[in-house]
This record gives sequence, C-alpha cells and structure tokens, in this order.
Amino acid sequence: METDVLVIGGGPAGLMAAIAAGESNVRVTLIDKGNKLGRKLAISGGGRCNVTNRLPIDEIVKHIPGNGRFLYSAFAEFNNEDIIHFFENLGVKLKEEDHGRMFPVSNDAKSVVGALLHRLNELNVKILTNTPVKDILYEDGKVVKVLLENGNEIIPKAVIIAVGGKSVPHTGSTGDGYPWAEKAGHTITELYPTEVPLLSNEEFIQNRQLQGLSLRNIALSVLNPKGKTIITHKMDMIFTHFGVSGPAVLRCSQFVVKALKKWELSEVVMKLDSLPEKKEEEIFQEFIEKTKEEPKKAIKNSIKGHLPERYLLFLLNQAKIDQDAPLNTISKEKLRQLAKLCKDFRFTVNGTQPLEKAFVTGGGVSIKEIEPKTMASKMTKGLFFCGEVLDIHGYTGGYNITSAFVTGRLAGLNAAKFCK
Ligand SMILES: Cc1cc2nc3c(=O)[nH]c(=O)nc-3n(C[C@H](O)[C@H](O)[C@H](O)COP(=O)(O)OP(=O)(O)OC[C@H]3O[C@@H](n4cnc5c(N)ncnc54)[C@H](O)[C@@H]3O)c2cc1C
Repeated sequence: METDVLVIGGGPAGLMAAIAAGESNVRVTLIDKGNKLGRKLAISGGGRCNVTNRLPIDEIVKHIPGNGRFLYSAFAEFNNEDIIHFFENLGVKLKEEDHGRMFPVSNDAKSVVGALLHRLNELNVKILTNTPVKDILYEDGKVVKVLLENGNEIIPKAVIIAVGGKSVPHTGSTGDGYPWAEKAGHTITELYPTEVPLLSNEEFIQNRQLQGLSLRNIALSVLNPKGKTIITHKMDMIFTHFGVSGPAVLRCSQFVVKALKKWELSEVVMKLDSLPEKKEEEIFQEFIEKTKEEPKKAIKNSIKGHLPERYLLFLLNQAKIDQDAPLNTISKEKLRQLAKLCKDFRFTVNGTQPLEKAFVTGGGVSIKEIEPKTMASKMTKGLFFCGEVLDIHGYTGGYNITSAFVTGRLAGLNAAKFCK
C-alpha cells in the first residue's frame, strides 16, 4: 500500500498530526496497534479528558520542566488557545477549571475523541486499527518503507512517529518508537518515570499509620543533600501503603528521581509544610492563646481545627506530647516544637513506582535532533516526531496533552508539505 503521510500512533499527537496533514490535501493513513484510538487521552484528567491548559504561554512552558522551552517556536504556530478554538470549531465546548485546566463541558472524554475521529472521517484519512507497526526501513538517509506485524508493508512519502512513551502500557504506549528513532540516527535520552507516586521506608509508612490520609493545600519540597530546597509544590497529597502520592507528590517526583541519580543517594529528604499560609511564630502564638483560653482542655481537642485530626495526632506523637494532656501542662518548648512540625515535617523517600505505573515518561528522542519549527528529524528525511516519544514532559494538568497536540499539529502540516 502507498500513502503520502503515514502517522503511526493514534494518541493526541497522532490524531492531531493526521488531521493537520489531512487538511493539507494529501493522502493520509493513521495506524494504531490498539482497537481504539486516543485511549490514554480518554483516561487523562481523571477520565474527563484534560484537553489543554489556559495559562499564559510562559506559564505553560514552566509547567513542562522537561524541555518545555523547546516548544516556544511551536507555540508561535499553534498554541493552547488554538487548541481551544480547534475543539470549539469541532463543536466541543470547553470549560476552564482550577489551575487553568480545560475540560469538555460534557465532562465526557468520548466527546473529545469522537470529535477528532469525526474530523478524520471528514478528511478521508484512512484509519487502520489493530495493526501494530513492526519496523521502519531507511535508505540513504530517507524513510523508504514501514513493515507491519501482519506481514504487509506501507510505502509512505513521510512518516510521523507518534507512538508515545513507555508508561501505562495497556493503553498501547510500549516504547516501540525508540528503536525506530535510534535506527534513524537519533539519540534516546535516558528514560525515567515522572508524575509518579513515591516509595518510602519510613516506619510510619510501613506500619500504615497514615494510609489513606489526604492533606489539602500543603507545600511539599524536595531537599538536596545539604538540606536546601530543590523544588516546592503547593497542592494536595495523600499517604498510601507504599509511600506518598497525589498532585504535589507527582509534581515533585521527577526531582526526586533526578536527585537520587545526581548525588547517588539511597534516599531523598522531603519537607512537608502542612500550614503554608501561616508562619511558625503565628501558629505558636495561636497555641499560646489557646492555652490562655482553655488551659484545662486536652491539647488534641483544643487545637484540632488547625489540621486533619489524624495528622495532628501523628504530629503530637512525633513531638512526644501526650494527646490527652491539658494545655497548661505542656511546656512552651513543646508547643514551639509542634508549631515547627506543622511547618516542617521531614521524611525520606527512596524511589518511585516503576515507569509502567508513571503517568508520563521522562526522556525520549533528543530534541537537539528535531527541527523545532517543523518537528522534522534532522537525521533522516521524511521522518517527523511528535508527542511523548520526544524528550519533553510536563506536569499533569493538560501540559503533556498540549505538547502532544501542538507538536502533532506541526508534524502533520510539515509532513504534508514535505510530500508536496
Ligand atoms: C492515567 C493518565 C492520566 C493522565 N492525565 C493527564 C493530564 O491530566 N494532563 C496531561 O497533560 N497529561 C496527562 N497524561 C499524559 C498524557 O495522556 C500523555 O502525555 C499523552 O497521551 C501522550 O500523547 P501521545 O499521542 O504522544 O501518546 P499516547 O497517548 O501514548 O498514544 C500513543 C499511541 O501509539 C500507539 N502505538 C504504540 N506503538 C505502536 C505500534 N508499534 N504500532 C502502532 N501503534 C502504536 C498506541 O496504541 C497509542 O494509541 C495522563 C496519562 C495517564 C496514563
């Protein structure tokens, strides 16, 4: 079979690439090994499909700590606002939620994937599902042929690799693109899990003392071996049976991975500020006030409004304060220590869940070998990359999907141009 543009992978990057190429009036084929397209897109944002993010471009780039700056040229061509218009033109109304996250008004991922598929049909893009690609053949620095697992071959003028990373493989992303890229002369930077829960050997984790406890709007920091803060994220977190998870933890996770590696550590220290809006002195003075107001009341009852009760009892235990002791029997030093623990409780983490369980894959096809305005390979003619297969990774919150749509759009337009 012959085609002009062959898009391998039907995630957000590949779907957008196929539409962009289709709109450029060339013959387009989109191929995916799964029985459905957009499987990972459909489970993003808690199953409601976090289409993009409405923060200003500079903020979007900041929220893509894995090479977000590479996307500046791409954003000049197609950006988050263009994604919003694109979907609205397809009849998918979007709404903004917290932190700029954009979702379909329907709260239904199917409306997003359905609209993309409808557009592909309108553009007569040929879609092959349940069709894994086995290999890509190159000759004299050019793409010549694509081999399928079923024994068939496709002869395209241009190929777009949009097969995603290596995380959550049941959605189809199993890292197939990396060897094809290497064969085309590309470097694959080291792969690692990002946006991933963290593991901890701390006794309070192992004995499941806090399992299931969520803390809202805390500030979680990753510290370097000298105790200096590498990064802080202010969001929610949860204690689990193996360690910690939740948005603040996911965002910190890549910095933990990098710190473990950089300093060859067996564990990294994290600092938990459970009352980031208050200063330690303010909290201490509130405890002193309480002591004056209710001297005979048990400390656990008197100050329970400050924090979730389970966490407060945990901190009292850490400060070696009897939770039933009347306030007037507790020394100022102990109250000071408790105030400090509210602001600065430290615990260690010693790793992450595996790459397969991470939301996003860090590392990938080196961006140094990709044209930032076209997504074309600098190594092989007729080859383009987009989406998570590239060494670009952001926080969850619509940033990865934005990167996938934007790089997909560029790859599609420029692969079509290449064919012409
Ligand atoms: C649970 C979960 C929640 C997430 N939530 C968010 C979020 O809220 N915000 C955010 O920005 N990001 C989120 N992400 C990340 C985001 O979904 C991905 O970054 C994005 O889907 C990557 O898009 P992609 O098109 O590059 O690859 P993918 O979506 O991974 O798609 C790759 C496609 O390629 C196909 N493929 C692979 N190999 C082959 C082959 N050999 N032959 C043919 N086809 C092949 C696969 O079947 C798949 O359909 C989440 C991820 C997960 C797992």
